[in-house]
Amino acid sequence: VVDYDIIIAGGGLSGLYATIKLSSKHRVLLLDPHDYPRHKMCGEFLSAEVAPLLSNIGIDLDQFTAAQINQLQISLATGKSLETTLPLGGHGVSRYNLDHHLYQIASEAALIKRAKVINAFEQDDSHHVHTDIGNFTCRQFIIATGKRSILDKELNREFIKRKSNWMAVKMHYTHDMPWNQVQLHNFEGGYAGLSRTEDGAVNLCYLATYASFKKHGNIESFQRQVLSKNKHLKQFFQSAVPLWEQPITISQISFDAKLQSVGEFICVGDAAGLIHPLCGNGMAMAIHSAHIASDHVDQFLQDKISREQMITNYTAQWRKNFKSRLRTGRLIQYLLMQPRWTKIAYGLLAQFPSLLPLIISRTHGKQILP
Ligand SMILES: Cc1cc2nc3c(=O)[nH]c(=O)nc-3n(C[C@H](O)[C@H](O)[C@H](O)COP(=O)(O)OP(=O)(O)OC[C@H]3O[C@@H](n4cnc5c(N)ncnc54)[C@H](O)[C@@H]3O)c2cc1C
Repeated sequence: VVDYDIIIAGGGLSGLYATIKLSSKHRVLLLDPHDYPRHKMCGEFLSAEVAPLLSNIGIDLDQFTAAQINQLQISLATGKSLETTLPLGGHGVSRYNLDHHLYQIASEAALIKRAKVINAFEQDDSHHVHTDIGNFTCRQFIIATGKRSILDKELNREFIKRKSNWMAVKMHYTHDMPWNQVQLHNFEGGYAGLSRTEDGAVNLCYLATYASFKKHGNIESFQRQVLSKNKHLKQFFQSAVPLWEQPITISQISFDAKLQSVGEFICVGDAAGLIHPLCGNGMAMAIHSAHIASDHVDQFLQDKISREQMITNYTAQWRKNFKSRLRTGRLIQYLLMQPRWTKIAYGLLAQFPSLLPLIISRTHGKQILP
């Protein structure tokens, strides 16, 4: 006899969404070591792909936020810029409020404990989950622990063995910019996103290689000497007023390919694969992958398919939906980091502006119906 049908490690977007979906039919335990609400590293532009999925569980994004975004401005490190209409568009949402809202819905449907999952084992057709508050058993364990976690190390996942040289910084500001626009500004060694969140605060979030940051040693001087070489970011830093004392920072962000399962365990969200943030699509992919996984896990728990079939079907559907987007994201990111290629690409896009929405579409899907 097991304690739960399903245990989910990680209460971010994918873990919370899977908890809500699966708890209507199954006994679910969700484990996360942190409290809600809290700020999280993210550009906070949510693609409209998942708007119907969120609406189905009680979150109407048009009500949730006035930041309804349909315009994109991109600039090169030199300051040259282009503007386009986003094919699908999206919403500006703070992770502080979005995750908290999902948490409130999830906590009415399932048991949520504040705990860090340390390891997990398969034994006699059940899963044993070890945490810092005790051990639990279930029929199916789901890993939704995001980009990088202690669990990846314990489970000996390949991507965790390689060093990654990306770091990210995020901060909210008071600043005047259009509510319907997301901006992507390139600088030497990285790029920065700017967009409004539901309360009007402007979120600045940038990714940079550790090598370029290291030369400057601290955030203040990096922003002044590197980011501000782009005139758009210079103007931003001159007039924007920080809303927090300190920015949030993280390092070791890996964009390497990952597997969608570890042994018998199912991975969702960033734990299954992280798209380059410049695509503005990671949150939607996290929710979408949790949606797909929930269907397959439900079929397994109802004994309609074997565990092996569940893993095979989920992996195939994940790859069909996301594999080529991740590849395109990796290519765009590579080009963006090579000044010569960026210049050529800019020349092409300036001459053929309709190419830009086409490229964006290659990293996004269509709206997903529940
Ligand atoms: C710099 C940057 C900018 C981005 N900008 C955007 C953007 O503008 N738009 C967009 O759509 N996406 C963006 N993304 C991607 C997006 O943030 C992620 O794809 C999304 O948060 C993934 O959700 P998740 O549920 O997989 O993981 P997360 O939301 O990261 O949640 C993982 C959860 O697991 C918990 N956890 C970790 N370890 C354990 C453990 N051992 N036991 C239990 N719990 C654990 C954590 O506490 C956390 O709550 C960006 C990413 C980065 C790095």
